[in-house]
Amino acid sequence: MTATNDRTDLLNALPLRDDLRGKTPYGAPQLDVAVTLNTNENTHPVPDDVQAAIVQEVSRAAAGLNRYPDREFTVLREELAQYLGHGLTAENIWAANGSNEILQQLMQAFGGPGRSVLSFVPTYSMYPILSAGTNTAFIPGQRARDFTLPPESAAEQVREHQPSIVILCSPNNPTGTALDDEVVDAVYQASEASNSIVVVDEAYAEFSRNPAATAIRLLDGRPRLVVSRTMSKAFALAGARIGYFAAAPQIADAVRLVRLPYHLSAVSQATALAALRHRTALLADVESIKMQRDRIVDDLKRMGLGPSESDSNFVFFGGAFDARALWEYLLERGVLIRDVGIDGHLRVTAGTEEETTAFLEGVESYLESAAAPPA
Ligand SMILES: *Cc1c(COP(=O)(O)O)cnc(C)c1O
Repeated sequence: MTATNDRTDLLNALPLRDDLRGKTPYGAPQLDVAVTLNTNENTHPVPDDVQAAIVQEVSRAAAGLNRYPDREFTVLREELAQYLGHGLTAENIWAANGSNEILQQLMQAFGGPGRSVLSFVPTYSMYPILSAGTNTAFIPGQRARDFTLPPESAAEQVREHQPSIVILCSPNNPTGTALDDEVVDAVYQASEASNSIVVVDEAYAEFSRNPAATAIRLLDGRPRLVVSRTMSKAFALAGARIGYFAAAPQIADAVRLVRLPYHLSAVSQATALAALRHRTALLADVESIKMQRDRIVDDLKRMGLGPSESDSNFVFFGGAFDARALWEYLLERGVLIRDVGIDGHLRVTAGTEEETTAFLEGVESYLESAAAPPA
């Protein structure tokens, strides 16, 4: 018997919840390769002056670490509201350790046994996992064949399933495209009967071709709408774990009932504040990432592949290639991208100019070698 089997037996001997038995922990491979383009991180390092500002703010917080942090992270909520604009105030804002925790708290408050979450697949793979962890049924709603989500279809599925929570991912991971207002509005109207919470996960909003077209504009008069954001992507702070949402104040009151007291550490609050105050430098890198993203779309089209239009920092593409073989070929060249488990498709994060070049050259040389007659 191998050590792993031993551990499985030991795990199974514990009084683990029945619905967790046989599961494996989620996580993309953290491989040590030269060019890591598989988890949609911001590939630009935090600029030196922003690093220095974070260190200074964290060092100030260090002096008070003997005390619990501000449980309401009031200053951070004020500054996040100011960043988002649209007349939002601190009352409308909530934050947590990444938007994953934001979504988990929303499911703890509004999901649970006998309740359900509806989302439209393919979409972010954490939604079913967070649903499972909170004992909420996950309903995989359908998209059109080209992965778009027509408003009438989305609304119809909401009326059919009457979920407690609907999650719309916009721009969608893994397909990259943002949803029109009509989809959010149609889903919101259709969820009136079931009194569902409608979450728009805007993790990639800052990379959108039209960043002004955020669902935050739709919050006024829609008390069940929640717009979730993160500092993991555009703000280049995946390692800091800071996510937040904007919604009616009573939505924040609901998650206050399930959050752990002091869940957002003083170090996290200080880091987030320093990054927000230096957002000009961070958002400048967003512009160069968008250029690399557009370059990937253009070059893959030129190579005869079919990339989706992208509003994010990654590109989803299909074509007449063997996805597994291309993925492995790139990995051999030190370029790690993502096989999202959709036949004939792969996803790549836009990197720095050099990283993006390494990816594009790899794809081109793979296509040439695959097209070459056998020697
Ligand atoms: C990356 C990503 C997140 C971010 O999660 P964090 O916990 O904030 O790091 C959220 N939603 C989607 C769709 C993502 O791709």
